[in-house]
Amino acid sequence: MIKVYNGTTGKMAGTSHISVQTGDPETCKRCKVATICYAARYQRLRPVVKESYRKNGLEITSRIFEMDELPIVTNFQCRFDAFGEIYDGEKGDIQLTNYINIATKNPKVNFVLWSRNYKKIEKYFTENMKPDNFKLIRSSSEVDKPVYVIPNKHIWDGVFSVVSAQYIKDNNVKLNCGTKDEYGEKYSCVSCPTRCYSMDTETVVFEQVK
Ligand code: SF4
Repeated sequence: MIKVYNGTTGKMAGTSHISVQTGDPETCKRCKVATICYAARYQRLRPVVKESYRKNGLEITSRIFEMDELPIVTNFQCRFDAFGEIYDGEKGDIQLTNYINIATKNPKVNFVLWSRNYKKIEKYFTENMKPDNFKLIRSSSEVDKPVYVIPNKHIWDGVFSVVSAQYIKDNNVKLNCGTKDEYGEKYSCVSCPTRCYSMDTETVVFEQVK
């Protein structure tokens, strides 16, 4: 059974996620932000959680599940691969098909997938439709190389870039992820004015390296 993770705190409070293991050589081999990867740091401190994501990844990529076997998501928004990434090859096809089917089964939930596996995503979604409650955000694969324009808009719904404090200062970048409300509390994705999980917005996001 594919596992849905709930009860997360911080940015993900109130947002479910369906994740696989971060740091799997099959998915994270190309990533140039590995040295600052928050997900990898988090997993190192929590081996039990890492093991759970590893098992979920095995499950998600094992076969295309029947609709009645797929999970019900109880929050109104859900992130695919809050941890981990889309696999290459057939495993990635199976993973993406299961994700599409989960979104189709949960039409009242808004799903967002952030990915750096551009090649796989673009190939798969050239050949396959995504449901209206499924948004794709292209994460930048390098720090301080922000992307301001969404490429291949027939595929991607947004772009997400990570920048350093020095780059922000030198280039006057206006951050819109990890910002704080009027009481000085960081927005969670549920309350964030950038609204990545809204299906009616194009999303161009900048976050400072943590
Ligand atoms: S910009 Fe807002 S909604 Fe998007 S990931 Fe950051 S906190 Fe979440």
